[in-house]
Amino acid sequence: MTSSSPSGSSLWAEALAQLERGAERMGLERWIVERLRKPKRILQVSIPVRMDDGSLRVFDGYRVQHNLDRGPAKGGIRYHPDLSLDDVRALAFWMTIKCAVVNLPFGGAKGGVVCDPKNLSEGEIERLTRRYAAEISILIGPDKDIPAPDMNTNEKIMGWIMDTYSVQAGHSVPGVVTGKPLEIGGTVGRREATGRGLYYIVEELCRVKKRELKNLRIAVQGFGNVGANAARILHEAGARIVAISDAEGGTARAEGLDVDDLRRHAETGPLAGYPKGRGVTNAQLLEMDCDLLIPAAMENQITAAVARKVRAEFVVEGANGPATNEADEILRSRGVTVVPDILANAGGVTVSYFEWVQDLQAFFWDEQEVRQRLRAILARAFQEVWRVAGEQKVDLRLAAFLVGLGRLSLAMKQRGLFP
Ligand code: NAD
Repeated sequence: MTSSSPSGSSLWAEALAQLERGAERMGLERWIVERLRKPKRILQVSIPVRMDDGSLRVFDGYRVQHNLDRGPAKGGIRYHPDLSLDDVRALAFWMTIKCAVVNLPFGGAKGGVVCDPKNLSEGEIERLTRRYAAEISILIGPDKDIPAPDMNTNEKIMGWIMDTYSVQAGHSVPGVVTGKPLEIGGTVGRREATGRGLYYIVEELCRVKKRELKNLRIAVQGFGNVGANAARILHEAGARIVAISDAEGGTARAEGLDVDDLRRHAETGPLAGYPKGRGVTNAQLLEMDCDLLIPAAMENQITAAVARKVRAEFVVEGANGPATNEADEILRSRGVTVVPDILANAGGVTVSYFEWVQDLQAFFWDEQEVRQRLRAILARAFQEVWRVAGEQKVDLRLAAFLVGLGRLSLAMKQRGLFP
């Protein structure tokens, strides 16, 4: 990703500033802050891959375990040409806080490979994935660190990771990774989990703000796993999706878009060319007249300049770190309610938790059970963060940090310091 925001600050610096803001507000002991300022482990690997033309290329890969005090590390794997170690550090940190906010028994991790999957064949991606999995297998495992999908990675890639790890172990180890195909220990509901989680969060937001979902005009940036599923589910629930974009641009329709129809169109051509909508750029989408903006593409999309022009009343963060800290402050000062990433997009890791639990027990749930439990966990987390925000008179991001850091610091104190 763009490892630095337009103001020049890296994603990791942005994450650390959020940590300090939360720590200062709650008077967190300095030794806890100092420990959280440094990830527990960082593994950098080189990944030699035989390319289809017979040549050899060596890719860089990372796995960062930020904190393990509340349980095994959990976090996605990203394939992206601009990925930097700093980004992975920040994303791992947010996983630690996110798991604490929704109270899952996990620490935080993240990983990735610097590559552009658009320029790789499926065979090359498979060889790259298997070698990356073998290289990080010294860190991962069902009770150590459990990867999952993130940008440009999917079920198939998770299946290869599960297989590679299992071949090395000599037996099937489904619990080593989540977001796998159903046939090899995946769970129903994982593919759409982050998008469905966003929907449950929007439901809660409507409840406390006394708004009707069907009256919301929603703009979604990103048409991948998170954005497309969120848009589809919100559309099915009666909300009006007035714009959607991907990396190349998007489409808008004030009367609302038919998300399934748009999905079919996206298989044949760019979103901007959708005949039933009007082409828009990503910049136009972020600043468009709507009630709710869901940034679900990548980090640093809402900069200070964009924040000054956002017209939505609510921002629900589907992506991780979609707004810079400076932009966040501007949105706050303009009275925009922002539901932060560490709460809003926690549906993915929550259903990943369900998948891991089912794998460990070799006993699988039906979709209704997955949805009910997901809704219960996210509604409880939202209500807790909302209550803390009200009691402490702070914004939802700071409130989420207070909840997450509170839980995390208690665990750290109870465990104490070795030796
Ligand atoms: P994805 O690869 O499935 O989709 C990403 C989407 O963003 C694509 O539509 C792509 O075209 C678009 N995009 C990429 N660059 C863009 C740009 N510069 N401007 C506008 N659009 C752009 O990825 P995903 O899994 O949907 O993840 C999206 C975000 O959500 C990431 O920040 C990720 O960390 C976060 N997230 C993902 C999950 C999950 O379960 N997949 C869970 C929590 C958070």
